[in-house]
Amino acid sequence: MPKLVQAHLKSCEFHRNNPVQFYCKNHNDVICAECKELKHKICMGVVSLAFFQSTETRKDKFDHVTKKLEKYDS
Ligand SMILES: [Zn+2]
Ligand SMILES: [Zn+2]
Repeated sequence: MPKLVQAHLKSCEFHRNNPVQFYCKNHNDVICAECKELKHKICMGVVSLAFFQSTETRKDKFDHVTKKLEKYDS
């Protein structure tokens, strides 16, 4: 099992008070609930990070998201 980054402990880079909770497949980015409402409202591919982490089978995509999360502040 790959190491899971605890996404709910990371705060959004734009909204410091919000944890990152979602992954947008359209933008290939990790986002918070506010970002989802503001910038990803029309995106079809928004899933919860927990869902992504438990279902993504492509290692390159998984690692991409893990790296992004690791850059965020805990
Ligand atoms: Zn945000
Ligand atoms: Zn998006």
